Amino acid sequence: QITIDKIAAGEVIERPASIVKELAENAMDAGASAVAVEIQEGGISFIRVTDNGSGISREDVPNAFLRHSTSKIRSVEDLSHISSLGFRGEALSSIAAVTKVELVTKTKDEPFGTRYVIEGGKEQSLEDTGAPDGTTFLIRQLFYNVPARRKFLKTPMTEAGHIQDLLMRLALSHPEVSFQFVNNGQEKLRTSGNGKLKDVIYSIYGREAASNLIDMDYEKEGVRIAGYLGRPSVSRGNRNFENFFVNGRYVKSAMISKAVEDAYKDFMMQHKFPFLVLHFYINGEDIDVNVHPTKMELRFQKQQQVYNLVYEGVHRTLLEPEL
Ligand code: ADP
Ligand code: MG
Repeated sequence: QITIDKIAAGEVIERPASIVKELAENAMDAGASAVAVEIQEGGISFIRVTDNGSGISREDVPNAFLRHSTSKIRSVEDLSHISSLGFRGEALSSIAAVTKVELVTKTKDEPFGTRYVIEGGKEQSLEDTGAPDGTTFLIRQLFYNVPARRKFLKTPMTEAGHIQDLLMRLALSHPEVSFQFVNNGQEKLRTSGNGKLKDVIYSIYGREAASNLIDMDYEKEGVRIAGYLGRPSVSRGNRNFENFFVNGRYVKSAMISKAVEDAYKDFMMQHKFPFLVLHFYINGEDIDVNVHPTKMELRFQKQQQVYNLVYEGVHRTLLEPEL
């Protein structure tokens, strides 16, 4: 079982950011309104994820680390969960297989919390502890027992950058959740969780970006595009500032990028790249969407239809920004 878990772990856990992604998504699934992430050494030696969600009851704690154990019933058609498809109930077992995990958790119905330690898939201890409602995961020494995989990790700075990018995207897709990110004792990100996307943009990108936004809300053929377009006068040197979410999930799409950039061409002096935070809400039945489970690459069945729709929506919004 432990060997199988180590192999399975390779599919889910590539780098520290994969761990943070799984733990932060679990926190949000547990109804947390605040998620705090702290790392050292790019997350390779230390990751702590704390949430104020439901907690895990004592009897469920060991089970949560078994392969294919999930308390969540998900429908395969539910696009918003598609990135977890195939990995259902595998995150905790995979993380525990290749790290040293300490978990402190408490539900609001229990008088005491639970502290659980599991290392390399082997349970070490399970005991009472005082704890606030919610869950804290401490993850130490990624791949300590899989040296071959440790070699593929990048520098702590690069790994920390991946984690920060991930948390920025989670914050942009969940303005109602407060996120905090601390790297080596330094706070790198903090959002309020007040539900306003514009405030998240302010927290992440600063005043300049947040005060040069055009509201977009466009709907056609079963596709709604809502969010913010950066003013064409405040352009960027690369595509990194184009943030797309489909049904709440961060995605990359060369086609959407192209459509938006083409729409901006009439409004930009030089060919540069826009700042964008756009949420697409797509009814899966109207337009066939494919997202690779880990790569976040998006493909549409009707490419041209989606291109036209995005181009038109963005172009119109730039022509007549409602103030
Ligand atoms: P999945 O999320 O697909 O169910 P995981 O391996 O990520 O599988 O988690 C296993 C189970 O552990 C979850 O179904 C959930 O019941 C529980 N769990 C994990 N993290 C948390 C958390 N932060 N708060 C509450 N429950 C959690
Ligand atoms: Mg999960």
